[in-house]
Amino acid sequence: MSAAVDPNQYIVKQEPYYQAVGDEIALYEAAYSARMPMMLKGPTGCGKSRFVEHMAWRLKRPLITVACNEDMTASDLVGRFLLDKDGTKWQDGPLATAARIGAICYLDEVVEARQDTTVVIHPLTDHRRSLPLDKKGELIEAHPDFQLVISYNPGYQSLMKDLKQSTKQRFGALDFDYPREAIEVAIVAKESGVDEKTAAKLVQIAHRARNLKGHGLDEGISTRLLVYAGQLIGKGIAPHAACTMTMVTPLTDDPDMRDTLNAAVQTFF
Ligand code: ADP
Repeated sequence: MSAAVDPNQYIVKQEPYYQAVGDEIALYEAAYSARMPMMLKGPTGCGKSRFVEHMAWRLKRPLITVACNEDMTASDLVGRFLLDKDGTKWQDGPLATAARIGAICYLDEVVEARQDTTVVIHPLTDHRRSLPLDKKGELIEAHPDFQLVISYNPGYQSLMKDLKQSTKQRFGALDFDYPREAIEVAIVAKESGVDEKTAAKLVQIAHRARNLKGHGLDEGISTRLLVYAGQLIGKGIAPHAACTMTMVTPLTDDPDMRDTLNAAVQTFF
C-alpha cells in the first residue's frame, strides 16, 4: 500500500484570476455536478489551464495536473512498483492519486500520449468510474468527487495523431479560443501590469498575426505570449524589442515571416 496522500497539498488556495469569455463557468459547474468528464478544446495559451485552476478553486477540489508527452506510459499515469531498501513498494501515479482523493485530474495535451496510455482513462470515464491497477491487482473505485479533464488542441491534430472516437465520445467538451478584443486587452493589462493602451496595441498585433495562421504560421500569437510581452515592457524593455522576443522569435524561424511579424509590430510601436 502506498502512503496516504494529503489532498490538501493539491488544493488551489488562492483564486486564480480567470476572465470568463462566455457561460463556460456555469457550463463547467453543471458538468462537474454530473461528474461528467470534460474536454477543453483550443489553441495553446488561450486560457484552458487557467480555467481549470479557477474551477478547481471555485469547486474547492484538489487539482492534479499532468503534462502529457509522447514518451509517457500508462505506468506514468497509473503507478508502478519501485525498489527501495525495504524491497518493492507500490507508488500511485497521478491518475490513481486523483481517483483516490477525489481530485480533478487535468491531463494537458492528452493527444500527445500514446494510444495505449489513453485507454487507461476509459474505465474512469464511463459508468464504471474505476481504475484497474493491473500490476498491483487492485481496482480503485473513484472517489465520488473525482473528475477527469483533458485538453486538446485541434490545430495540432493529424490523422496519425488524434484521439480515437471511442475516447472522444466519453467527454463533454467546451471550445476555447483567444478571447475577444476587449476581454483580451483586460487580461493582458491585468496579468502583465501594462496600461490598457499598451495592452490594446499588443492585442492588435496579435490579431494581425492570427490572420497569418495557415498562411505560413502554424499557430497565431497566444494570449500567453502577449502577457510575456507586457511583462517585459513593464521591466523597462523597449516595446519593439519586447515584442520581437515574445511575439516573433518564438513563433517562426522563417525570415520572411519574421519580417512580416516585425512589420506588424512596427505599425504599433
Ligand atoms: P492553455 O492552457 O490554453 O495553453 P493557459 O491557461 O496557460 O493556456 O493561458 C496562458 C496565459 O494566458 C495564462 O497564464 C494567463 O496569463 C492568460 N490567460 C488566457 N486566458 C485567460 C483568461 N480568460 N483569464 C485570465 N487569464 C488568461
